[in-house]
Amino acid sequence: MHNARTESQSIAAYDPYVREQQRDAIHEAASELGDVRVAHVNTTASGGGVAEILHSLVPLLNDVGVDTDWLVMDAPDEFYDVTKAIHNGLQGDRSEFTESMRETYRTVTVENAQALTDRYDVVVLHDPQSLGMAPTLAETFPETVLVWRCHIDLTDATPAYLEFVQSYLDPIDRAIFTLPEYGDAISGVEKVAVHPAIDPLTEKNRPLDELSGAAAEAADPESFPFDTDRPLMLQISRFDPWKDPLGVIDAYHDVTESVPDTQLALVGSMPDDDPEGIEVYRKVEAAAADSPDVHLLTNLPDAGINALQRYADVVLQKSLREGFALTVSEALWKGTPVVGGDVGGIPLQIDDGVNGYLVEPMDIAGTADRVTGLLEDDQLRASLGDRGRETVRERFLTPRLVEDYLTLLATVTE
Ligand code: UDP
Repeated sequence: MHNARTESQSIAAYDPYVREQQRDAIHEAASELGDVRVAHVNTTASGGGVAEILHSLVPLLNDVGVDTDWLVMDAPDEFYDVTKAIHNGLQGDRSEFTESMRETYRTVTVENAQALTDRYDVVVLHDPQSLGMAPTLAETFPETVLVWRCHIDLTDATPAYLEFVQSYLDPIDRAIFTLPEYGDAISGVEKVAVHPAIDPLTEKNRPLDELSGAAAEAADPESFPFDTDRPLMLQISRFDPWKDPLGVIDAYHDVTESVPDTQLALVGSMPDDDPEGIEVYRKVEAAAADSPDVHLLTNLPDAGINALQRYADVVLQKSLREGFALTVSEALWKGTPVVGGDVGGIPLQIDDGVNGYLVEPMDIAGTADRVTGLLEDDQLRASLGDRGRETVRERFLTPRLVEDYLTLLATVTE
């Protein structure tokens, strides 16, 4: 286990985005909490939604006076192959879960739990990857409250994977899900729902004219391989079958029948804990080989992601399964309408026809129709975009998440 590095941040910097009532509630909750020491544990310090959230949440909890560490597990590549299979199995993939996979998982999670020598009042284990640490932690630190933050929707989980997860839940005091129903399939643990949030002050989300130096360069449209004067569809996602990048390319081809000069950018990162990414990337590359206006971009800096979400005319999040999809709130915050699959946390963020459109996940023609309608109507894009920004301001900005965590910490330590 090693500590992830975070930049310090002050909750006061969020004042422009926070109602007075929320500001007071945060300070009151933090002062009532007293001295508690908290650790968040996950498997990567960069790439994917969990790392994105922890980079904001951890410094802010420290700023309001909650002593909070972020610990990252150390694990060999084979562990990530197993945890990716568990992730997929929990999302409904039926592939086999062998005894040797279980053994790899057990060994690595126990080793990481044994490597933790500091005592915390509360340890928050993120996702199935770190859940396996729970029994060892409970033995070593019986006083520590163990929270499992599951970012996955378990509704369609394959039984073998679900039972495996269930077998680790005994020592867990509280399980957090993005939506209450995501955890219906598990039992014996108290559950709470907390929606994720995006940080308006990061290089990914702040106004482009506030960027400087390398960030401003990364956001410069000159550095993009497409024409910013022509329509642009964009999906930003890990290269993962559940994000359906091949479906996005199919929808793009449909759109070009009505709006021929449309371009598509598929942007993805290759996080350390996602071995499947490169395989999916190759498939996407092959599918896009004959389409000069389909651009695959990898490992862009945050400021580049920010600029793309603003230059895009329509953002897609055509997921087949989804926990929350931070990418939806990120785009809405920039006033860009989103066409998203009607799965997981996407309908929580998109009010169909109000700030974007929801489409049936496998419906390529329906997706293309919605995108085409938006590309052909500047006013519609602008009005949906304006409402999208309001949705995020009301419900999905970091200070609300800080408040939710303070409430949770108060409940589990009282
Ligand atoms: N992301 C990024 N670069 C990429 C792809 C994704 O910075 O090339 C970020 C994206 O902006 C978002 C996060 O990674 O903040 C993905 O979170 P989301 O909840 O959408 O999906 P997850 O990867 O957790 O399934």
